Amino acid sequence: MSAIDLRPTAVSAATEAALTAIAGASPLNAVLTTTDERARASAAALEALPAADRDALPLAGVPIAIKDNICARGTRTTAGSRILDRFVAPYDATVVERLDAAGAVIVAKTNCDEFAMGSSNENSAFGPVKNPWAHDRTPGGSSGGSAALVAAGAVPVALGSDTGGSIRQPASFCGIVGLKPTYGRVSRYGLIAYGSSLDQIGPMARTVRQAGHVLAAIAGPDPRDATTVHAPAFEVPGTDANLQGLRVGVPRALLASGVDEGVRASIEQALATMLAGGATLHDIELPHAAHAIPTYYLVATAEASANLARYDGVRFGHRAAASEYSDLGSMYAASRSEGFGAEVIRRILLGTYVLSAGYYDAYYRKAQQVRTLITRDYEQAFAAVDVVAMPTAPTTAFRLGEKVEDPLQMYLADVFTVSANLSGLPAISVPCGLDPAGLPVGLQLTAPAFGETMLLRAAAAYEDARGAFPTPS
Ligand code: GLN
Repeated sequence: MSAIDLRPTAVSAATEAALTAIAGASPLNAVLTTTDERARASAAALEALPAADRDALPLAGVPIAIKDNICARGTRTTAGSRILDRFVAPYDATVVERLDAAGAVIVAKTNCDEFAMGSSNENSAFGPVKNPWAHDRTPGGSSGGSAALVAAGAVPVALGSDTGGSIRQPASFCGIVGLKPTYGRVSRYGLIAYGSSLDQIGPMARTVRQAGHVLAAIAGPDPRDATTVHAPAFEVPGTDANLQGLRVGVPRALLASGVDEGVRASIEQALATMLAGGATLHDIELPHAAHAIPTYYLVATAEASANLARYDGVRFGHRAAASEYSDLGSMYAASRSEGFGAEVIRRILLGTYVLSAGYYDAYYRKAQQVRTLITRDYEQAFAAVDVVAMPTAPTTAFRLGEKVEDPLQMYLADVFTVSANLSGLPAISVPCGLDPAGLPVGLQLTAPAFGETMLLRAAAAYEDARGAFPTPS
């Protein structure tokens, strides 16, 4: 397995090794369900193929873990929620079908914040995930299980979903690569919806090129998701990617406050590395970035309140015991109160409020207007630069329990990631250093819509210039 080609030489051996490594990683609580049977059947089918056919598959035999808010047929799919504790998906998500077709072997469903709402994985109904770099720290969220499993080396790659940073922020906290594609690049069919205008599925991997190969396998239009786009395919960079002439925009004002010193130092070092490799640095302004967090939490909760209305104790999931209700209304209320955790309930309440007749104009419509302004800021910046560089998160991995009692503090962890979702842009987190405590820092690069070719080339060239990155001991 090289930095570019992920494919193992012996498929069944690689599958068994991944299943063993996943069992060994159980103290991390990163996995909710292992898919041994499906994995062994896929491996056997691959081994039965003529070698030439198998070699034609871009991910032949590559073990992959899937965030548990993505449906896999016949497999328990919980989205980290008690309300879906016993839900078995009746179909494969499009991304799962495409991974199968590419020869990947699905080995596990990973722990995540409930309905992908969170930045620390502490909102999972199945307990928090531990960061492999320091077990008393969060792996980030909401795709914390996927990030921890890749960082621990149990699987080479995993899928996450990113509504406001949930691929990039855990990648940053765990010292791996996380890629959120352009909105519309990857089908959301079979992804349990959180904020439908923000959600994208994407890869988490050790290297940029590996993430690129996984994205290539899952991307492309899908008749079952009308928001997918017939965009030109992108290229995964070869070994010749370099930084020569790359124009990197740096929003200096954004970095001026609220960023940990250790993060700032690593980012400055990454920018110096890019400069030394032949890139040019340009100061840019993103004047509306200060409003990104409130805008995101209005749009995301509004959409969540509508999307989560389907969990009613009738069509999906948990229903309260008959002794807990007397009529249809109280059955809904009891089932939802028992099934949803505190953060999900908070967001349904907030989302319902901002969509209500009296407050729609003041909050929801206003948020949509600011969303447009945030998107325009990026359009203006991209007139002069190829990519925008900033930290993925203002801190490194914080301690489990540190922010869980203070939701507003937790929301600030997303300050650098939500803009890419509000504007639909592709963005990637690449490990760029360790802070004084020895915890990984992520560099985030953002590119114009459907600019994955540029994004991956810039990120891979930076990664080459950076050199090997340590793994947790
Ligand atoms: N942390 C953000 C939230 O809680 C982002 C979550 C995500 O990207 N799924 O909404």
